[in-house]
Amino acid sequence: MMRQFELVERVRSYDPTADEDAINRAYVFSMKAHGSQMRASGDSYFSHPIEVAGILTKYKLDAASIITALLHDTIEDTAATLPEVEKLFGSEIVRLVDGVTKLSRIELQSDHSKQAENFRKLVLAMSEDIRVLLVKLADRLHNMRTLRFIKNPDKRRRIALETMEIYAPLAERIGFSEIKNELEDLAFAELHPDVRESLVARLNFLREKGGDLISRILEELRATLKEAGVEAVVSGREKTPYSIWRKMQMKNVGFEQLSDIMAFRVQVRSVEDCYRALGVIHSRYPMVPHRFKDYISIPKPNGYRSLHTGVFGPERQRIEMQIRTADMHEVAELGVAAHWSYKQGQRPADGKQYRWLRELLDIMEHASNPEEFLEHTKLEMFQDQVFCFTPKGDLIALPRGACSVDFAYAVHSEVGDACVGAKINGRMMPLRTPLNNGDQVEIITSKAQTPNPTWERFVVTGKARARIRRYIRTQQRAQYLDLGRAILNRAFKQEGYDFTEKGLDGVLKIFKAASVEDLVVTVGEGHLTGREGSRRSIPN
Ligand code: MN
Repeated sequence: MMRQFELVERVRSYDPTADEDAINRAYVFSMKAHGSQMRASGDSYFSHPIEVAGILTKYKLDAASIITALLHDTIEDTAATLPEVEKLFGSEIVRLVDGVTKLSRIELQSDHSKQAENFRKLVLAMSEDIRVLLVKLADRLHNMRTLRFIKNPDKRRRIALETMEIYAPLAERIGFSEIKNELEDLAFAELHPDVRESLVARLNFLREKGGDLISRILEELRATLKEAGVEAVVSGREKTPYSIWRKMQMKNVGFEQLSDIMAFRVQVRSVEDCYRALGVIHSRYPMVPHRFKDYISIPKPNGYRSLHTGVFGPERQRIEMQIRTADMHEVAELGVAAHWSYKQGQRPADGKQYRWLRELLDIMEHASNPEEFLEHTKLEMFQDQVFCFTPKGDLIALPRGACSVDFAYAVHSEVGDACVGAKINGRMMPLRTPLNNGDQVEIITSKAQTPNPTWERFVVTGKARARIRRYIRTQQRAQYLDLGRAILNRAFKQEGYDFTEKGLDGVLKIFKAASVEDLVVTVGEGHLTGREGSRRSIPN
């Protein structure tokens, strides 16, 4: 377990202005709060928040994030309270701790694997500060590293699935490829232990058969670039078992056919050198068709830049190559954390300095092509949406300001029409109450209920409004129909005839009505008098 002074040293090494005293107090506070609690591994519980804080120091996160990591489980799992944390650590920390606590609560709420995409959006929407999400990812990473200690296999599986579907993609989205890779591989080991084992065995076999293949290829690549006068640092690695497996699944090939299990990285000094290195590689080795991608010219939405290519390289081995500068490498490995900057006295509690990060998240979330990329840069992330749970744990996405009636109509039109009340997080609340992210909403229905015209004043979704209006219209039409019949009856009587609807068939054209019923309604609405209607219908 990392010691108190080690943690402080690590933070101070990249941020000399960090509030050492606050980190120390948070360390002690958390240790006391968790007391004798234990982890499934048999370690003291307190080792967990320290490890989480330790993971974050690797990404050089600010002292507030480190303190939040230390305190992240105290509200949910110990007697500590938010007011207490606020009093001891201030408003910024309490806001962050509260954010992480809320994320942990929604996590417990349901089986949401069927709606991974919505759940990822909910997590993003609730992470009002990017640091909340970063602490949550580090929390999940440490829980995955210690997953094997959990005895219940169903629980292990659920956590691994959730990691694969929710947290690894979130890590990727904010550019944390290192964390993403580790989360995926840990989840893969839990979900498909046999597949993973056979992949690892196969990789070992190839490694033995090929001797020191990677180093031989490396040597040749280095020499090739040097000869051409390109200064470069070249490194090579095997891909992770999970990324190999995913490729096998995507391309529907067996391990025997999968040849590019090695990836090489060329790091150069400038963007120009990236293209020069590419030229050297392509003129020396035949290129594998369709593998070249220029993410320098068009970066990925998460900011990733590199040149990718595949070649039949040294020893006729099919290899993958990435070519990038040191800056690009840092962004690729550390994502948004690479942009972290520290300026003394410039850490406002309102989180304004993270605004660009929120915007970045927004772009990543929405953009699927360059046009959209530009279009969405001005939008705030999910400011316009709330995500709420049904009692069964399904997630419903609604526009901000939506109420229980909107929720009911989003579940099903009939649920909306028949709704008489709503429980929000277990409490009866007025139907007009605006919903918040993560609320659980239970709609109470009655067969006797019909849509209430006053709902139209507070619903915000088009679906709810349209259903309510349609109901009002059919209601009114029925009333006008009755009224029209009565008026026509009297008018016909006055002329000495009996009124029949059939009798109106011949005059529909004159009154430009589509049906007899329409004509009767027109009379009921007062747009046509009974006298006019009867006169034209009765032979002179
Ligand atoms: Mn935790």
